Amino acid sequence: MPENQLTGAAVMNGTVKRMSQIPDADYIREAEMYGMPSAEYPECPVCGKVCHTIFADRDSGDVYGCDRCVKVLDAADWLENQKMELEEMYHD
Ligand SMILES: [Zn+2]
Repeated sequence: MPENQLTGAAVMNGTVKRMSQIPDADYIREAEMYGMPSAEYPECPVCGKVCHTIFADRDSGDVYGCDRCVKVLDAADWLENQKMELEEMYHD
């Protein structure tokens, strides 16, 4: 993530945040607390980044992505956003 050297700010999800406000990923915090993990972690077949969690279809086992390229959304928030997007489409 690019950080402005003068302000220490970075853009995350479209909003400007100070780098100190952005939490490290869980695996980085774990590595800081407990040392580097002993397990070997794979590269995600979707995004190619080393990851700790793979998300796959319960039945088929098809991989959707990993903790680095898939985000977990609150379902009620997601529904609210879908409704707002539909509303905006009708107003255009
Ligand atoms: Zn991934």
